[in-house]
Amino acid sequence: MLRIKKGDTVQTIKGRDRGKKGKVIAIFSQGKRALVEGINLVRKHKRRTQTDQKGGIVSIEAPIAISNLMVVCKSCNHPVRIGFKILKDGEKSRFCKSCKEAI
Ligand SMILES: [Zn+2]
Repeated sequence: MLRIKKGDTVQTIKGRDRGKKGKVIAIFSQGKRALVEGINLVRKHKRRTQTDQKGGIVSIEAPIAISNLMVVCKSCNHPVRIGFKILKDGEKSRFCKSCKEAI
């Protein structure tokens, strides 16, 4: 079970973008890296194509290590530690260790 999932709001706790919040767009490398909206932007040179005559330089997100991210709890509105619990039907569920609300 992954600590961070696609669609979560996360905050970076390390690196150049420390303290920034964003939404997880995708998870890679079996949950080791994530692509987060507006975080870890890199400049890429875009080639001019038939449909895009402009080309030039664009900023895109680069994957960031999951260990540099913390999930922001919707109830606390704070980056929090995540706990896991097993529900009656055997499913695992994530919860905020601070307010105990499900995430
Ligand atoms: Zn919470």
